[in-house]
Amino acid sequence: MTSYQQQLFGDQTFLEFTLDSQATVDKKRLLLPNNVSVEVWDKGVLYFHAEDGASADSILLSVGVHGNETAPIEIIDDLIRDILSGKISLAHNLLVVIANPEAINARSRELDENMNRLFINGAHHKHGDSVERHRSILLMNYSRNFFSRHAKQKFHYDLHATIRDSAFAKFAISPNVALSSIVEAQGHLLGLWGIEAILTTDKNSATYSSFTAQHCGAVSFTLELGKARPFGENDLKKMSSVAVGLRKMISGNLQAPPEAEAPILFRVVTEVIKRSKEFRLCFPSSTANFTEFAVGDLLAVDNDYQYRVTNDGERILFPNEAATVGQRALVIIRPSNVAKTRWHD
Ligand SMILES: [Zn+2]
Repeated sequence: MTSYQQQLFGDQTFLEFTLDSQATVDKKRLLLPNNVSVEVWDKGVLYFHAEDGASADSILLSVGVHGNETAPIEIIDDLIRDILSGKISLAHNLLVVIANPEAINARSRELDENMNRLFINGAHHKHGDSVERHRSILLMNYSRNFFSRHAKQKFHYDLHATIRDSAFAKFAISPNVALSSIVEAQGHLLGLWGIEAILTTDKNSATYSSFTAQHCGAVSFTLELGKARPFGENDLKKMSSVAVGLRKMISGNLQAPPEAEAPILFRVVTEVIKRSKEFRLCFPSSTANFTEFAVGDLLAVDNDYQYRVTNDGERILFPNEAATVGQRALVIIRPSNVAKTRWHD
């Protein structure tokens, strides 16, 4: 008997098919056991629908927005193989997205520009042309389509790996309004997945998770799962808590051991923008994400601007001296004490 994977992708896996520039998408629909249907919407875009799912959630799992962040891509390829072989039975609707196949093939973070600055409605796309712009428009359409269908709850997890070391190996960024009960419940779930910190921000941005939170009614997270490495060099054991957690979630098996550690909640204090080519960061480039600085410390200087720490507990995130002028070069964050107290009571 021909397996479901063979019927969809021939002798390839979902990932191999996605990265094969010769492969063409045949928009066929297959019925898997338990009345789950699967459709290939595009290269790297796979839709599963739980047929009798009045109580089903809709879960978008995206990876590879940055092409060199390979561990999450491997996790997702394994997951798809196990769904199609019947090892995992789906209880929820699922859209799986390998976001930037061309950058993955080039073994690079991006081909033309940072895709995670392009998930925004409308006009700015007309002002430029790039591989990432074309693809992000398609992905926004697929995401809208997916989340416009009926679901009990809607979730998006956009899986990444970081450029640098981090004091918290795994952390999440939530573009949803902090402390709604559903985000709080998700915090406990993410704790089970080994997520140590959650950064909440109510600032609008053009990331994929921000787009689905603002425009698709989803509870969305960017998940940073460790340092980016090339294919084959990832230690997937370090991420097994996330892989296991995702499998439990999509198969509707969510019992949580009560001792699960809730992540520490942080909030964005400010984003430091690179205003000119004179911009410099005032700490070593090897400094880990979430490193704390003292009040008065000078963190960045620019032509006619500088950033000095003004509050206790300020830490740095995503420093990038090489950012394009006009873009974010550093994020300043602080623990969100109110939230922390609530989560631990
Ligand atoms: Zn990334």
